[in-house]
Formats: sequence, C-alpha cells, structure tokens
Amino acid sequence: MNYQKLTERDLKHIWHPSSQMKDYVDLQPIIIERGEGAFLYSFDGKRYIDIIGSWWCNLLGHCNPVISEAVKKQLDKLEHVIFANFSHLPAIELAERLIKILPKGLTKFHFNDCGSASVEVALKMAFQYQAQTGHSSKTRFMCLNGGYHGETIGALSVGSMDKYSAYFKPMLFEPIRLEAGDNAGAETIFEKHGKETAALIIEPILQGAAGMKIYSADYLKFLRKLCDRYDVVLIADEIATGFGRTGKMFACDHADITPDIMCLSKGLTGGYLPFAITVSTDKVYDAFYADFKDGKAFLHSHTYSGNPLGCAAANAVIDILTTTDVMSTAQNNAVWLKELFEDTFRNHKNVGDIRSIGLINAIKLVENKRIGKPFDSSKRVGYNIYKKALEKGLLLRPMGDVLYFNPPLNIERETLVEAVDILASLLF
Ligand code: PMP
Repeated sequence: MNYQKLTERDLKHIWHPSSQMKDYVDLQPIIIERGEGAFLYSFDGKRYIDIIGSWWCNLLGHCNPVISEAVKKQLDKLEHVIFANFSHLPAIELAERLIKILPKGLTKFHFNDCGSASVEVALKMAFQYQAQTGHSSKTRFMCLNGGYHGETIGALSVGSMDKYSAYFKPMLFEPIRLEAGDNAGAETIFEKHGKETAALIIEPILQGAAGMKIYSADYLKFLRKLCDRYDVVLIADEIATGFGRTGKMFACDHADITPDIMCLSKGLTGGYLPFAITVSTDKVYDAFYADFKDGKAFLHSHTYSGNPLGCAAANAVIDILTTTDVMSTAQNNAVWLKELFEDTFRNHKNVGDIRSIGLINAIKLVENKRIGKPFDSSKRVGYNIYKKALEKGLLLRPMGDVLYFNPPLNIERETLVEAVDILASLLF
C-alpha cells in the first residue's frame, strides 16, 4: 500500500470534521489501519497512543475483545429494525442494565443515534413536558457559560462556544446563561427567569469542551434545588462524563442527584457505534402518556434509534464496568496520574492550570503564568504541540491551548508514563 497515495485519495473526496481542510496540506490525514487497546496503528506502520480516547468515546480500548465479540454475535442475528412498534432483546436488556447503574429514578429510555441528537431530544422533551403539564409559558432554556452540547441547532443554542456558533447566531434561540460555580448568581437568575424557563441543561461537574473545567458538587446540588423550586426540568448532559470518566459511574453521582433527563452517548458503546439515549424519569414520561387523540405523544424519531448493534456493544460495556475491576483500577490510576501530572508540569513556566478528575487530566498553557495571560491565539500553540506530539506517536488534539488526557479506563500505567514523557519532552 502506497501511503502517500492513500492520503491523496482521502483528501480528494473527504471533508473531515471540525477541520480547516487547508491545514491538511501541511499535516496530512493519518490513515489508521487498526486499533488495539490504547493504541492506533497507521498504514505506514506507525503506532499512536490514543490518549484522548478518540474524541472521548473510546472507553475500554480499541477492539476490546469482549465488546467486539458481543457485536459480532449480534451482527449475525439482527443488524437493525425499525424501533417504532418493534423492539428486540438487546434493547430491553440494555434498559434493564442501565436502570441498575443510573442515578435512582431514571427509568425511561428514548434511543437516538448521536450525542447532539440526544440533546435535541432532551430539549424538545422538556419543552413539550412543560406545555403538557400546564406550564406553556415556560418556553426558555438556561445553560452554563462555557457549556458544550453538540453541533445541531438546539444544541448549539445552549452551548457557549462562539467558535462553533458565531456564523449561525441568526438561526439560534437565545438562552439564559449562568456562571458555573456561582450559587448566588444562579439564585438571582432563577428568581428573575425561573417562571419562563422550561429547562436548565448542564454538563455535570466537568465542562469538557470548555477545557476540562471542573465545578463543585455543591453547585450541582444547588442547581437541583433551584430547578425543584421553580419547576425547571434539569437536563444532565453526561455524554462526555458518563460511564466512569470522572471516577464515578456518572458525574451526577458526585452530588448524589437525579436529573429529570439525562443524555448518554460516547462511552455508552465504548465508542463502537453511533448511539445515544435520552433517559427520563417516570414523572416526565407520564406527561406524554395519554390517549392518542389527546396529541400528547413525543413524535421524534431517528432511523437508527435503538440499533441492535449499538445495544449489544452497550450491554457488553456495562457488563465490563460492573463485573470487572476496571473502574477501581482506573480510580487508583487516577490518583497516581494526577500526582504524576502535578510533579511533571506544575512548575513549568507556561502551565497556568492543571485540571484533574478521574483519568482526565488537562493542562492549560499560558504565556505568562504570574498574571495568567493566554498565548495569542494566532500562534496556535496547542495546534503546534499537537503536530509535534503526532510525530512522537501521541494523539493529543488540544482544545485551544488546553492539552489533555482522556484515555480508555483500562489503559496501562506504562502507557500513561510514555504519554506523559512525550508531552513533557515537547514542553521542556
Ligand atoms: N455533549 C457533550 C458534553 C459532548 O462532549 C459532546 C461531544 N463532544 C456532545 C454533546 C455531542 O455529541 P456528538 O458529537 O455525538 O453529537
């Protein structure tokens, strides 16, 4: 296989996501042949440590034998079936498995096909719920500054990343924004806008795309209280945080709260398939349950809702998380990795901040540490480190000048050390 020819064939027709395609002239796409555990292998024989879990979805290593086997088995039975009026065993079993590990009270499962879709469903579900429970004046949404919930129009509207939404402002609705961690501010905003608000959507505890920013469990608890007080539906977007990423099964578990609606994707299938679920409580579900003529049904569908292969992968993931020591090992490794990050990077003149939760560790690079002055974005500091890291066999993909690890939970310490060494060699 002529590798150069392969990249040329790729670039001739493929428009890669979230990319300035002209950058590919300088940094060509890396064509991956296979994956194994935390490693990716390209067609030209190079090995990469996938330290970002392929956009945070690879939870238990590439080509995990248990998940692969489960998907293969399902593949020979049923690949897909319409999910309206039809169902299948993997979906039924998945709902039953999830109920056992989700925060108590989350009992109804609406299957979708990607994270953004599960967010759209959550927003629409909350909106219709309010209308059908006598609150038709509750039409607005609240969200947190720095939040990210996906790329579709509703998800972009409640997100805060100008980089992704600036062009589309005229298409978006305007939410009410809260500052993460500011209890007093949240209370004031709820007093003012609680009555007109259908739902608050949050990334619980960890704001991933904002640069792995972490806020307190106390703040999350307080938001739950405010939502109760003002009849605001609390939507927890656990797409990035679910399934052990933050050290607990779900980030909501840090605050011991149950949201009214929860969005799941990414780690749900271990990163195997495009798959997502919007989970709700009986209370939300019951508001839609009526005679057909009442017009209360939630009429939202995606062709691949409830895809059996996705369900099979998810069932295998939950089995691994609940019957092996993968979570406790990851928790031990998380304590150890945090220390390694602190020891290696804390005193570096350009490391402004280190953020750690679970195996997620991020460092924010700044030009001047004393006054926290960021680098001029035109210098593309993070991007340049990304390129150098790739040369050394590390897949980092920073967010701006925030470099982070978000590896599979079962990554070996040895691989983490190798990744930290590579990163350190690029900074020192
Ligand atoms: N919500 C959060 C918190 C996310 O991190 C992401 C993806 N990074 C999404 C929603 C969107 O998911 P998807 O890319 O599958 O549409």
